[in-house]
Parts: sequence; C-alpha cells; structure tokens
Amino acid sequence: MPTPDSLTRAHSRLNAWRDRALDDLVQGAGVQEPGTTREVALPRSEARRVRSFSLEIDLAFVRLAHGRYGVCEGCGAAIADEQLDIQPAAIRCAACQAAWDRAAHH
Ligand SMILES: [Zn+2]
Repeated sequence: MPTPDSLTRAHSRLNAWRDRALDDLVQGAGVQEPGTTREVALPRSEARRVRSFSLEIDLAFVRLAHGRYGVCEGCGAAIADEQLDIQPAAIRCAACQAAWDRAAHH
C-alpha cells in the first residue's frame, strides 16, 4: 500500500521530472546548431514527442490519484523505486516493459 509519504514523494518526483523534461524539450526543440542560439521551428517529430510526453505525465498523475501509481500494469507487482527514479511515469515493471517492447516491435 502506498503511504502518504510515498505519494508526496511520487508527486514531487513527477513534477521535477516534468520540469526537467520540458526544459530539455524546449532546449532541444530548435537550437540544433552548437554555439548558436538561433531558433528553428519545432520539427513535427518534436511536436509529436511533446504531445506523447504530456500524455504520459497526465496518465501518471491520474494513476497517482487512483492509488495505482508505481503498480505494474502487466503483473500488478510494485515497480522498483530505482526504476521510478529513472522513469517516474513508468507503468510497467522492467520485466513486463521488456516483454511489451518485444511484442510492440514484432
Ligand atoms: Zn510487471
């Protein structure tokens, strides 16, 4: 069971991750030329990435609100804390994600 403490931690982890990732996206969006600050329009692929990223974040907050954050969609086990540190919006444990990726690419 998630404790209020772990929920608070999950919240701040998600918020920090979103801020960091959005910074990355903004920086990576146009400034492709090293040493310059010349801005280039957001390429279509980047725009797609931003959209799917914001969906991921929304989903993570919804899962958090429903007490399902950090629970694997595949096997129902708790997702390792170390994995959530790296991927705060993870919805599958490492084993299920690997299986999912294999299934999705074949
Ligand atoms: Zn799993």
